[in-house]
Amino acid sequence: MLRTPGRREVWLRGAEKPSAYLAMQIQRIEIPTPLPVGPVNAYFLPGDPPTLIDTGPKTEETRAALEAGLGAAGFRVDEIRRIILTHGHTDHFGSAASIQEQSGAEVFGHDADRPKFNGERWLVGHLSKFFTEAGLPPAFLQSFLDTLRGYRELFDPLPRITALQDGDQVSMGNGRLRVLHCPGHSQGHVCLYHEDGALIAGDLILETISPNPVVEFTVEGKRIPTLPQYLQSLRRVLLLNCEVAYPGHGAPIANPSGRIRELIAHHDERKEQVRALLGPTAKTLHELTQEFYHELDHINTMLALSEIVGHLDLLIEEKRASVQRRGRTLLYKAK
Ligand SMILES: [Zn+2]
Ligand SMILES: [Zn+2]
Repeated sequence: MLRTPGRREVWLRGAEKPSAYLAMQIQRIEIPTPLPVGPVNAYFLPGDPPTLIDTGPKTEETRAALEAGLGAAGFRVDEIRRIILTHGHTDHFGSAASIQEQSGAEVFGHDADRPKFNGERWLVGHLSKFFTEAGLPPAFLQSFLDTLRGYRELFDPLPRITALQDGDQVSMGNGRLRVLHCPGHSQGHVCLYHEDGALIAGDLILETISPNPVVEFTVEGKRIPTLPQYLQSLRRVLLLNCEVAYPGHGAPIANPSGRIRELIAHHDERKEQVRALLGPTAKTLHELTQEFYHELDHINTMLALSEIVGHLDLLIEEKRASVQRRGRTLLYKAK
């Protein structure tokens, strides 16, 4: 069995030396998911110790795809010694617990996503308050929770996690990856950066999707401004001027800085569109979301509320919108 595949001698056209990111020997394993997002990527680093970054959700198809991908690299699931999770979304970590059990691998993830790794998506009380303040009918919460329940079979809770922190160095056979805490898409989202310009990006940067910073709450129930956080994380990574990004979904991105600029521009444009919906008459978040999107199911309503409230956060920060409370509802208008 090929245990440690030889360093590939691949030279980029015009490059003076093989880029270190190729030396990293990242192997992308595309894993099918039953979720609307489509397939998710796991990445295998065959160096010492054999490391898997993200695992895919817990389904039989996922396991088959993972076994096939590892097999192509000459490895088996029980030979994985380390699992690093970019963030606590089901499509990325769902099968980590079963792989951990089978292989004894140590699993790493950021502490801020520990509640998600344990299966606590949202505290129902916080969510209920958010929906009420957004102006949604009380029945929405129940139907939303019913929809979410269907997702629970896609992961096993993961109580044994070693905490990663910003700045941690992850050693590999022939180099190191630096942990970058990039909150926004998820509070505990991390990227892994190789100093020669490769970024394992998780869902921070995707080529064809604009990653959604979903609403999140502090333990006390205060809503966290996830879109401003996400944009800050993008700007931080932009400064690294990476050569290639390995995203959580889709093929490697050759010009990550270009894509980051597009994402920032997209949010700027979207912010102006939201601003244009605001007038002197106060509107609820639900009303604004309905004006923007049509015919949404429960999950997409949640994503749309997150998107719009994120832009309202930015506009309030810029003093171009205001929010006031009327009874249990929050109302937004132009300023
Ligand atoms: Zn995600
Ligand atoms: Zn994802």
